[in-house]
Amino acid sequence: MHHDYHRPRSLTEALELARQTPAARFVAGGTDLLVALRKRRISPPPALISLRSIPELRGIEAGERLRIGAATPLTDIADHPRVREHFAALARAVEVIGSRQIRNAATLGGNLCNASPAADTAPALLVHDACVELASEGGTREVPLASFLLGRGETALRAGEVLGAVLLEPVAAARSLFLRKGRTAMDLAIASVAVRWVLRDGRARSVRVAAGAVAPVALRLGPLEELLEGARLEEMCSGDLLERVRAAAREPIAPISDLRASAEYRSLLTGVLAARAVESLARGERATAGGAR
Ligand SMILES: Cc1cc2nc3c(=O)[nH]c(=O)nc-3n(C[C@H](O)[C@H](O)[C@H](O)COP(=O)(O)OP(=O)(O)OC[C@H]3O[C@@H](n4cnc5c(N)ncnc54)[C@H](O)[C@@H]3O)c2cc1C
Repeated sequence: MHHDYHRPRSLTEALELARQTPAARFVAGGTDLLVALRKRRISPPPALISLRSIPELRGIEAGERLRIGAATPLTDIADHPRVREHFAALARAVEVIGSRQIRNAATLGGNLCNASPAADTAPALLVHDACVELASEGGTREVPLASFLLGRGETALRAGEVLGAVLLEPVAAARSLFLRKGRTAMDLAIASVAVRWVLRDGRARSVRVAAGAVAPVALRLGPLEELLEGARLEEMCSGDLLERVRAAAREPIAPISDLRASAEYRSLLTGVLAARAVESLARGERATAGGAR
């Protein structure tokens, strides 16, 4: 493997290098890219541009919105108090990725730009209504995550553009949860589900549900969101509603069969995970409310 390796110290420098060598690839933690190169799944690019030493791309800023730099290691995200407080689904999704060594190197931007259908952070960020900031020499633009993830390995990134940050708006009283199943702890998800709602007068509002690994990209589960919108906590712990949750969760997905699981199993699992996520989030809320009384 022979290629130039650049380690720019600023975003301007990185974007300049990308313009000079259009076929160059950005690399952050390298846990996807270097593995793909080693296994010869992709042809070696003429140059690698490392994003690890660019201050603008690293770290978490807690302003009105939380701004997570794309090259922030996953460990820092899982440990951040604001992430844990307001974005539990994301914190959990990050925590289950690979091993601690992987999470120390791997970045949030890499997980999204690699655009694997099984990327764990994608469904979590979808339920948090995340936006992404894309930077190029022409300036920056912001797009909702759903418009960024276009297909298996496909994103809205244009040539010479870099993912700069993920933007998250805290929502008062929002609760969320992420669940997934892989064959083993270190394996990619066979299916994953994230749920978020805001509890108002004992009812779930602004419900968001998303699934991963069961379509070319992580996707929101519209029929299930409609079913749960306005539902009471007690209902969400009842067999009746949970049966309908299992069915609704499977409607919009399009799973494939591969070495990890069959399409049929992925579909069943999505229903099971969705029901488990809804019930467990509802039970958690009831316990909290009970304790406060
Ligand atoms: C043993 C092992 C276990 C794993 N387990 C999981 C798991 O459980 N769940 C999971 O989701 N993933 C898993 N992964 C995959 C991987 O670790 C994650 O996807 C990780 O977040 C990738 O981040 P990175 O910084 O290493 O990306 P890189 O490998 O550095 O980059 C990935 C891709 O994104 C591009 N890129 C990176 N950053 C940017 C940017 N800011 N702007 C534009 N393009 C960019 C690169 O050019 C490349 O194409 C695992 C990997 C390994 C090796």
